[in-house]
Amino acid sequence: MNLTSVDPPEVIRFVKKNYPDVELIKPRMSIYEMAKKKGCLPTRLVRWCCEEFKEMSGAGKVTLIGIRKSESTNRKKRNEIETGDRKFSGTFDQWSEHQEKMVTCVGGKDKILVSPILYWTEKDVWDYLKRMHIPYCELYDKGYNRIGCILCPMSSQKQKAKEIINYPHVKNNWIKVIEWLIKNKTYMSLSKNPEMAFKCWISKKPFDKFYADEVMQQKLEFKD
Ligand code: SF4
Repeated sequence: MNLTSVDPPEVIRFVKKNYPDVELIKPRMSIYEMAKKKGCLPTRLVRWCCEEFKEMSGAGKVTLIGIRKSESTNRKKRNEIETGDRKFSGTFDQWSEHQEKMVTCVGGKDKILVSPILYWTEKDVWDYLKRMHIPYCELYDKGYNRIGCILCPMSSQKQKAKEIINYPHVKNNWIKVIEWLIKNKTYMSLSKNPEMAFKCWISKKPFDKFYADEVMQQKLEFKD
C-alpha cells in the first residue's frame, strides 16, 4: 500500500489490524513537499499525486485493483486485464490459449493490472462483504462512499467540508504550502491570501470565477 502522507488514519489502522501482511510504503517525499516542487497543488485535471504516489510501483508485478465500470465514465472504458500503460487492454478468457499468451508475454517490466470486480455493482460489493463477513473500514459507516486521501481533489464538496473539520492539520499543512508557493512561485499570485487560495482550491472553480463569486457574495452580504 503506497502511502501519500495524507492518508486517513482510519484506513491505516484498518489495514494494520486486518491485513498485517500488507507492506505500508512510505513516500520518499511528502505530498506537501512534492507540491512545492511541482509549483501547484494537485487538482482534478492535473492529478500529479496519483502518478507520483500511487501509480509508480508494480513494475514486473501483477496488481489486483478494485475498480468497477459503474463508478465513472472513464472506468466504463476499462478492461479486466491491462498493462499500466494500457498498451494491452482486454478481457481475459481463461480458455483461450492465445489470450493467455498475450497476457503472460508482455515485457518483464510491464505492470499488469487485473480488475476482478470490474462488472460488479456497488450492491454486489456490499452483499458480498456482508455474506462473507469481511471487515471494512469504519469510514464507510461515517458517510463515505469512496475513500481516497484527505482532501483529495476527486472528492465531493460535502466530503471535503467534513474533512476540514475532522482533519484540521491537513488544511493547516496545505495553507502553509500555499503560503510558500505564493512567496516563492507564481501560484495563485492574484490572491496573496492563502486562506482564500485554499478555499478556491477546495471549490474546484478556476480562480477568476471563484474570485468573482466571492466578490458578488460579499456585495450581497453588505446589502443585507
Ligand atoms: S486519492 Fe486523491 S489525493 Fe490521493 S493520490 Fe489519488 S487523486 Fe491524489
